[in-house]
This record gives sequence, structure tokens and C-alpha cells, in this order.
Amino acid sequence: MDRTDATLRELFAVQPPAGLDRRLRAALREEPRALDALIDRFHVEASERGIARLLYGRGRDVAAGRGRRHAEQARHELAEYLAGRRTFFTVPVDLAGVAAFQDQVLAEARRIPFGEVSSYAALARRIGHPRAARAVGNALGANPVPVLVPCHRVIRGDGTWGHYAFGPALKTRLLALERSTPLLVGSTSTRIVCRRGCRNEQRIGESRRVVFASVADAAGVGYRPCEVCRPRDDAACSCGNTARSCGDTAVSYGDTAALALLR
Ligand SMILES: [Zn+2]
Repeated sequence: MDRTDATLRELFAVQPPAGLDRRLRAALREEPRALDALIDRFHVEASERGIARLLYGRGRDVAAGRGRRHAEQARHELAEYLAGRRTFFTVPVDLAGVAAFQDQVLAEARRIPFGEVSSYAALARRIGHPRAARAVGNALGANPVPVLVPCHRVIRGDGTWGHYAFGPALKTRLLALERSTPLLVGSTSTRIVCRRGCRNEQRIGESRRVVFASVADAAGVGYRPCEVCRPRDDAACSCGNTARSCGDTAVSYGDTAALALLR
């Protein structure tokens, strides 16, 4: 290396933030339990109409009558989700006790596709209240059914996590889980592509499985979408664009995941 090289290297060297080493080592030392082992910490309150509350910590399920079936289904689907075997929930939620504004916010949060993130400000714009990012944050913070309504997919515009009812560590882990769970699985014998978690997908044998990144990719090699789980490439955004092409969802996920590790 000559002198110019050395000078250039010195000029453009990136200084790591203070304490980075220590934080990275601490993050690596932590050996968190597998996510699916956390299923026993989740509890639901179910009504006849569906899941009214999802709680994390000590406690037990509260359900009567038809609510018991919903509670059982929620537990089953949650266990699959935490194990990386499900990308969507079919158990009904009961948001009857929720006020109109919060209901609107939660409905919009449900449209954020598995594995993607959006920001509080983007959600505020999409429901037509562009200056209500803080109110949107509060509405999501009081989400009675986290995970099922994926408020963990909403982060702050600066890439930090913002408030999460079940704590920032779990938010990080849920987002990491969604990043590592394949979205679409096809069967080489039926040539049908499913969302992960569909009953048809769960029947595909290990040797007949093929993972796709998009429905378009699958269609390109002759696979058609399953009629039960109806996979689509993009959830439509209310701005008229698909979520992926909509500027409202332009938060870079890779950056935010890295930020979370370092905080
Ligand atoms: Zn399917």
C-alpha cells in the first residue's frame, strides 16, 4: 500500500459508534429461547365472535361457548406462526369494543404484508389523517390483539421501533422471524402454490416442496395460486398502489433490523 492509499483509507475510514463492540458482543452472548417455546406465554380472551384480547405473560385463556373454539384455533395458529410454519391468521378477531379511529388504524395495519414494515406516518397518511402519526402510534400501542393484528410491522420513520405492547425485544424477534419464514410454497406434483400455513401447503411432502419468492415467479414456471389461501403478490394500499410500489411503505427493512440489533 502506498502513501495515497494510506491517506485515502484514513480519510474515508468509518468510525464505529461508541460502545458498538460491547453491544455486539452482548447481543451475540444472548441465547434467546426458540420463539415457538414462547407459545405458553400467550393468552387469549375470546368471545363468541372471535379473539377480543391477546395477552403476553402470566395468565390463562378466558373463553366460553363458541369462544373456546376460537381460543383453540388462535393457540394452534400462533404456535405455527412462532415456529415459522404460518404467514397469516384465519382466526376471527372481535374488535367490537374498539373506537372508530382505532378500528380504522387496526384495519390498515392488517393490510401490511407478512415480512414487511410500514411507518406510523405512512399509516396516518393512508387513513387520511396525515398529521395524526402520534395518534396512530397510540392506537396501535393499545391494540387489543397484537400479533393477530400485526402492529409489530409498524415502526417509526427514523427506523427505531417505537412503543410495542409486548416489548421491543419481542418486536425484533417477530420481525426477524417473518424475514426468515418463506412466504410461498408450491407442490411439484399439483403445481399449485400456497401461502405458508394453508392446509393444502401443510399436506405437501418434504420431497415435493418448492419455495417461491412471488406468485409471479411461481406462475412463470407454470404454478397456479391455491384457491383456498389465494396468494397474491401485493396487498393493495389505499393510495391505489400495491404496498410494495407505494411510497408510503418505503422503509428499508434491512436497515431497521440492523439498528435494532445495535440499540
Ligand atoms: Zn393454499
